[in-house]
Amino acid sequence: MNIGDKDNICTKDMPTTCSSAMLADYWSPFDATVVDLLRQSGAGIIGKANCDEFGMGSLNVHSIYGPVVNPAFPTDDIRSAGGSSGGSAAAVAAGLCNAALGTDTGGSVRLPASYCGVVGLKPSYGMLSRWGVVSFADSLDCVGVLAKDVDIAHRVFNTLSKYDGQDSTSASPETREKAQRACEEHMQSWRSRRDLAGLRIGVPQEYFPASLSPASVDGVREMLRALRERGATLVPVSLPNTPYALSAYYVLASAEASSNLARYDGVQYGSYIAITAMCLHVRPTPHQIGTPASTYALSRTQGFGREVKKRILLGTYALSADAFDNYFLQAQRLRNLIRQDFRDVFLVPDPLLLSHSPASVDGVHALVHPSAVQTAPPLPDTNVISEGDSLGAYVQDILTVPASLAGLPAVSVPARGKNKQGPVGVSIVGQWGCEAMILEIARVIE
Ligand code: GLN
Repeated sequence: MNIGDKDNICTKDMPTTCSSAMLADYWSPFDATVVDLLRQSGAGIIGKANCDEFGMGSLNVHSIYGPVVNPAFPTDDIRSAGGSSGGSAAAVAAGLCNAALGTDTGGSVRLPASYCGVVGLKPSYGMLSRWGVVSFADSLDCVGVLAKDVDIAHRVFNTLSKYDGQDSTSASPETREKAQRACEEHMQSWRSRRDLAGLRIGVPQEYFPASLSPASVDGVREMLRALRERGATLVPVSLPNTPYALSAYYVLASAEASSNLARYDGVQYGSYIAITAMCLHVRPTPHQIGTPASTYALSRTQGFGREVKKRILLGTYALSADAFDNYFLQAQRLRNLIRQDFRDVFLVPDPLLLSHSPASVDGVHALVHPSAVQTAPPLPDTNVISEGDSLGAYVQDILTVPASLAGLPAVSVPARGKNKQGPVGVSIVGQWGCEAMILEIARVIE
């Protein structure tokens, strides 16, 4: 099978640049574990795919290579492919490969999958190894799969879902087994039957905000109808802390990014730009010339793009003594509440809890909601991206970040039928470790 690889997942035979000037010349001395596993299985890595710089973005416009154009639209209608794994989604949508690796920290696999009309799977946190994946926000980063159909996504996932001792956050074999047992037990009631009687699907009311486009509503409505026709029971549920997810995500992800990106100082990693008396950009005083601090500053000033710098500043502020309690700790508290919201509605108990969690008896097997509030927007002019555009891009993640904060598996599948506004995705979210379950449901409504 031919597979594309997002440019923040290391390959030893191709550069890994994270679409950043900072790593423009970087070649990893080793393959990421996920790349290694793919090669061992006989797959060919056909190339590296464009992305938002270091995975930060929702429209794949923050890249030294320029924006990714969505191949699902006619050539006179230039739309965003979504981000940050836009190159991976576009490669699959254009038929360059059957599947591509992406990374999903807050939605970067599911959003481009929705915009480009392909399948996008974000596995449970810790299920796929992050060894050799360039960190953005370690507690949220997941390797994900973009694929032509659910079956291919499932096959690639099965190839990659292995414990990796190189990654300290890789789920242990015992935890995987425990999750698989719980998940299979709950699938027995409906999988063996021809219809889906016994399957309980939650429809979370908070995932239908006023800003949802009619195309997204139609997409999800059609999927829910298909599930009900097959015998599934639809249950309205509430995840009350959902409205806080986006703010919590941007504080936590930026805080972790500011710490992770400290390594790019032009010495340990990244383009080294020595400051000299000839330097036109910063007008150094004579005593600054050639000092380490000035080298770091100039390397980082020139190596990072605007969006990355913004996140570093935001994250550094959130971690500063003055803001720590009000921002970082509050965001962590919200993350716990959001995680608990999911536990409260799932029938399958959370296998990560040490004590046996009393799973909700009148709960649901999985949740179904729109993947994005709209179809692919027109590509903004990258030379004049305003603060408004930036906020507009952050809001695209509103429906994807809760599952990221809770570390849960989610798959976006293209809604059925042809939509005049372009493709829209519908997401299925399950309990930790229930990839087999959400993919089985996805297969039914594909
Ligand atoms: N759009 C989100 C961000 O910019 C998510 C990115 C991602 O999942 N890598 O942080």
